[in-house]
Amino acid sequence: MAEGEPYLFHARISAALNIGLLDVRRLCDDVDKAWREGRVPLNAAEGFIRQLIGWREYVRGIYWQRMPAYAGLNHLNNDRALPEFYWTGHTRMRCMAQAIGQTLRLGYAHHIQRLMVTGNFALLAGIVPTAICEWYLAVYMDAFEWVELPNTLGMVMHADGGYLGSKPYCASGRYIQRMSDHCKACSYRVDQVTEEEACPFNALYWHFLIRHRPQLSANPRLALVYRSLDGMPAGRRDAVWQRGQSLLARLDAGQAL
Ligand SMILES: Cc1cc2nc3c(=O)[nH]c(=O)nc-3n(C[C@H](O)[C@H](O)[C@H](O)COP(=O)(O)OP(=O)(O)OC[C@H]3O[C@@H](n4cnc5c(N)ncnc54)[C@H](O)[C@@H]3O)c2cc1C
Ligand code: SF4
Repeated sequence: MAEGEPYLFHARISAALNIGLLDVRRLCDDVDKAWREGRVPLNAAEGFIRQLIGWREYVRGIYWQRMPAYAGLNHLNNDRALPEFYWTGHTRMRCMAQAIGQTLRLGYAHHIQRLMVTGNFALLAGIVPTAICEWYLAVYMDAFEWVELPNTLGMVMHADGGYLGSKPYCASGRYIQRMSDHCKACSYRVDQVTEEEACPFNALYWHFLIRHRPQLSANPRLALVYRSLDGMPAGRRDAVWQRGQSLLARLDAGQAL
């Protein structure tokens, strides 16, 4: 994620694909041919074809196999309303403001912005799945329920209990820092967790893991993070929990972070 580069290395073909102007099979064949002719490197061709066959066609299968019950799933029992700033972009969290602002302006955000910024925040904050699904359906030019719903409810919110993806894509601010240039321009501090100016993603990440321990701790893919949570001194864990509580209380009071 790079500021001022909303499209970066992405193809911007999802809307054309979803309304039938482009054909998936034809596109994959063309890219395969380009690789065979030495016009593109293998990793580029493979990555592109995998997005189409491995994700787009996969989520389509899940949607048609699991609907209509799928739309009502809420495995983590989330009950928090969608914060107002999803509709305005008015938040001090730089990564969120950029992803939302760009979305409202262009009707486009690429996958990592959807999954690891706006999606990650909704997951960590415990937003009601139907509310965040409605948002994704409303704001993107490529939005169609059959592709939006499994991505949001399954991949982002883990509301299907791991049917689509074997673990929630939860992440702290450190991940966003590694994957973007947002943090250096943010008024929050990504290297802090419990302080007043600490990046909200950090405490919310640990708060999420603590409050969902019963549903998540047996997942082998999360064993390492639960080990580091358990290795945290009790006083530190309490402070992290309190910071998470206070951030969530601010959301419940209708305040932007
Ligand atoms: C919460 C969330 C909601 C999403 N909602 C939609 C949606 O309503 N409609 C939609 O088309 N995509 C959706 N996606 C998938 C993905 O973000 C977009 O397809 C992609 O950002 C479109 O931009 P692009 O064409 O530049 O994609 P590129 O990154 O260049 O990828 C090429 C193509 O691969 C396909 N693709 C890649 N990842 C996925 C995926 N996870 N699921 C399905 N297809 C994928 C798309 O057709 C895309 O056009 C969603 C992802 C998330 C995390
Ligand atoms: S410090 Fe936190 S809120 Fe600010 S841009 Fe980085 S990850 Fe986002």
